[in-house]
Amino acid sequence: MTRIAVTGAAGRMGKTLIEAVALNPDTTLTVAIERPESSLVGVDAGELAGIGHQGVTVVGDIKEVIDDFDVLIDFTAPAASVANVEACAASGKRMVVGTTGFSDEQKEQLLSVIDSTALCMASNFSTGVNLCFKLLDMAARVLGDDVDIEVYEAHHRHKVDAPSGTALSMGEVVANALGRNLQEVAVYSREGQTGARDRKTIGFATVRAGDIVGDHTVTFAADGERVEITHKASSRMSFARGAVRAANWLASKDKGLFDMQDVLGLK
Ligand code: NAD
Repeated sequence: MTRIAVTGAAGRMGKTLIEAVALNPDTTLTVAIERPESSLVGVDAGELAGIGHQGVTVVGDIKEVIDDFDVLIDFTAPAASVANVEACAASGKRMVVGTTGFSDEQKEQLLSVIDSTALCMASNFSTGVNLCFKLLDMAARVLGDDVDIEVYEAHHRHKVDAPSGTALSMGEVVANALGRNLQEVAVYSREGQTGARDRKTIGFATVRAGDIVGDHTVTFAADGERVEITHKASSRMSFARGAVRAANWLASKDKGLFDMQDVLGLK
């Protein structure tokens, strides 16, 4: 049994993760963490997640419980995840990070710990999206420079970063397959007299509306035909199940940086 800690326990993903840990026969929830000022510190994690009493009380400080878990799953906010990675590395605890929206400096801080512990990071932990990454790589290599490439994503109205981490990862997969640098070729918005499209660019379009869990489509458009690779998430459970699978897989790793492609054996 892998002992799991979930931080951000009261969040949309945190509650789903608590349920996913309970549903996985190889994992057990031993720790739940929220912001120290949260009114939910002190409540039972299972009651919070709506799955009934689990006997795990939500705490406000990771240091109180650092010896009580094997792997921390963190879907919170960038600054919180950086602080948690540092606390986990100092105690040799492994960590699955699903938070998105890190700055380059924060990414460097996260990566500074991988010589001392094992870290699994992915902008999207769903199995279907990770399969799409593989299909996108194949499509980009076959279609090459003969197509215009556009990435479309839609999410719920509460999402705070754009484009989504998944859309950026999809752009990176395609750019890498074509030998392009995403930073140089990405176009994040268009307005007014933009001029004709430069074929080497990769365009991004973002929609924020209602309760959309997460839609992504990458279009490869040539003259006369187009290929579209689409993934639609209908429930956060797809991400949570993948993250718990990653945590269980990570429990046998000592150190290094891994992603969901490693967990699924797609590399
Ligand atoms: P949310 O706002 O509903 O939940 C975040 C939770 O983290 C909140 O309950 C908040 O109180 C808590 N939190 C913030 N700082 C904390 C701290 N220092 N200690 C403990 N708890 C803290 O957000 P959400 O929709 O659950 O998404 C969370 C993150 O996960 C976002 O960055 C989102 O983009 C990302 N996400 C990633 C994937 C993926 O597959 N990688 C999937 C869905 C969401």
